[in-house]
Amino acid sequence: MAKKKVVFIDRDGVINHDLIGDYIKHWGEFSFMPGVLEALKELTDSGFEIIIVSNQAGIGDGVYTKEALDDITSKMLAEIKLYGSRIHSVLYCLHGKSAGCDCRKPKTGLFHQAAAKINFNKSNTFFIGDKLSDIQAGRDFGLKTILVLTGYGERENKRLEETGVHPDYVVKNLGEAVVIVKGQANK
Ligand SMILES: [Mg+2]
Ligand SMILES: [Zn+2]
Repeated sequence: MAKKKVVFIDRDGVINHDLIGDYIKHWGEFSFMPGVLEALKELTDSGFEIIIVSNQAGIGDGVYTKEALDDITSKMLAEIKLYGSRIHSVLYCLHGKSAGCDCRKPKTGLFHQAAAKINFNKSNTFFIGDKLSDIQAGRDFGLKTILVLTGYGERENKRLEETGVHPDYVVKNLGEAVVIVKGQANK
């Protein structure tokens, strides 16, 4: 397999508004954050394969159904496509919070799933997330990490010293993250 330019992006709080303290249970609760469609388009136009990696424990914990999640995913992808962008794949952990699976971030299972399907250089591939569990997962897998201050990011950014989990970069939002990814990746 030839190596690809890949970028991993968390969903809630990075692509769409996170309903802090609640799950996105149906499409009506999903809304793109400002600048996100443009940022994804920029990545697509720069030749990146975009992979979304997201914990959706509400499925395993019985809060919403797999059908509702599939509906959200297909409508999200349709809007992204309409805007001229392409998503390589969307990988979810559907297990409950206490299921002890190996794919719920900060575990790295979703990245292993991705690596089985597409070839990339870990050390210059980025993972963009809004939680320290994203940063932890990315680091443990050997990726570069960017914490965005949208979603949970603002409060997570205050816990860097306490947790010892340090992202490579902290930026305001996905748009700013894309500037770093475009400048640094695949060098
Ligand atoms: Mg998130
Ligand atoms: Zn899982």
